Amino acid sequence: MKEKLLGMTLAELKTAAQACGLKPFVGAQLADWLYAKRVRSWDRMANISKAAREALAARYDLGISDPLGTALSSDGTKKYLFKVVCPMGGGFEESAVESVMIPDVDRFTLCVSSQAGCKMGCKFCMTGRQGFHGQLDAADILNQFFSIDESAELTNAVFMGMGEPLDNYATVARVIEVLTAPWGFAWSPKRITLSTIGVLPALKRFLDEQRCHLAVSLHNPFPEERLEMMPVQRAWDIRAVLDLIRQYDFSGQRRVSFEYTMFAGFNDDKRHADALIRLLRGLECRVNLIRFHEIPDFPYRCATDPAMEAFRDRLNNHQILCTIRSSRGEDILAACGMLAGQHSEPS
Ligand code: SF4
Repeated sequence: MKEKLLGMTLAELKTAAQACGLKPFVGAQLADWLYAKRVRSWDRMANISKAAREALAARYDLGISDPLGTALSSDGTKKYLFKVVCPMGGGFEESAVESVMIPDVDRFTLCVSSQAGCKMGCKFCMTGRQGFHGQLDAADILNQFFSIDESAELTNAVFMGMGEPLDNYATVARVIEVLTAPWGFAWSPKRITLSTIGVLPALKRFLDEQRCHLAVSLHNPFPEERLEMMPVQRAWDIRAVLDLIRQYDFSGQRRVSFEYTMFAGFNDDKRHADALIRLLRGLECRVNLIRFHEIPDFPYRCATDPAMEAFRDRLNNHQILCTIRSSRGEDILAACGMLAGQHSEPS
């Protein structure tokens, strides 16, 4: 397979140009065409000579590919399906990943996938059910930004799609570099949120190296109950995750939020609200309550609206900012925990 240009840094693009016998400034031109102008074919790179383009194309792929299909929700949310080929077990495995474009009054947010499937096995998550099918490379992740109809309108990104982004941190860090560098998309890190279940060593690196927002999937304040739903709790206790987070400043530009999916009779009562208040006390943060979207062969249902409202009010009354997040894209299986790399309603 040829190396892909998409995902290379400016320095790497210059090296790639030199490897084809071209001047380093061609690398800067490539960065401009790819990342600033977001062209999708060699032909559009008008200020690079035909001979230079041919030399580059003989050695490199752009790394850009069209989605296999889309599904449009009644609320405007749009799900895209992309084919990916990931290194697995000494060979390659073809798989599919999904991205979700969520339009809002003043923003277009892309919920982006970082792995094909996931190793983490959270019981309530369709992606976790399908197991792990390989790491996406930087081109696979950036292609999700490039190859959707709304590419030019995107304002924000959340690493909340398929996979645990901190289990593919080096690649995700590279993508964040492309998104935020002046030679790349030149986005502010404030436009990017990374969501994790708390992979501790990589979380420390993320907090040290990045300025993006952080979202942590918490879901239960009691370690033994959290473990029932999230095997990660055995390796990295949520209390250790919080101890680490408390060492960083979230009172300014960077924000931390906690995702709390609400299951009836499991984590939706006063006892849980009070334990969550104790766990988060003193931390500048926000809690997002998420409706659980039922999945097959899983015993739990979503908490009732009154239970969710009481939970929210209890947290707010104890100075922990808490909101019930509106659910988007449920009719096309694009809501939280529903992504499975399958095409639901082609349009
Ligand atoms: Fe993986 Fe996230 Fe699903 Fe857990 S919730 S299985 S980390 S994709």
